[in-house]
Amino acid sequence: MKTTPFFNQYFALIEKLNTRIEELQNSQTEHIVCKKGCAACCMNFGILPIEYYAISQAIKNTSKNLCPRLSKKSVIPAKAGISYLLRGDWLRRAKGSCLRRNDGTIETSCKFLHNNTCAIYMHRPIICRTQGLANVYFNEETDAWELSLCEQNFTTVSDDFFTEEQCLNMDEINETLAEINRSFLEANKTELSQSKALIDVNEL
Ligand code: SF4
Repeated sequence: MKTTPFFNQYFALIEKLNTRIEELQNSQTEHIVCKKGCAACCMNFGILPIEYYAISQAIKNTSKNLCPRLSKKSVIPAKAGISYLLRGDWLRRAKGSCLRRNDGTIETSCKFLHNNTCAIYMHRPIICRTQGLANVYFNEETDAWELSLCEQNFTTVSDDFFTEEQCLNMDEINETLAEINRSFLEANKTELSQSKALIDVNEL
């Protein structure tokens, strides 16, 4: 499998993202309640093949035995633990759906969560890195920017707080990631022809 140039691009994206995240966390400390030990957002996310294989290699290089594998996954009913705001001409509150499956459930068990701590913290996926921040996406259906927040955070700020500077533009990150993923799949189309579009973190 051809990996090196694509893994390098992925890790360069992570480095850039980490810098932006650190900047936001440092300037928003008083608004971000979740700290180490808060695992409310941890669940069995689906990640792109490029992330799956890059993380997989990083884990292998770091340790041969990070944590025991879970024998089965559990699925629990969705909770409205996360608030979503739609931001177009103005801001309005709505309940989120992007963490829910079609049957209205959320799969919550990530096998790497042990005592509310991530066993692969250094190598965790992008989606895990961005939790807790003010994440924005453009929703083409509503033709509006959608702001995703943990309801425990940013509780004392008004809607005006959420300027471009204070938010993490997830579209930019996801577009770059999708592009790296496309090149990775193209370069390995024989080996990865059967690959799922998204692979569960629990399959790592
Ligand atoms: S990989 Fe780590 S941060 Fe991401 S959901 Fe699992 S335990 Fe949480």
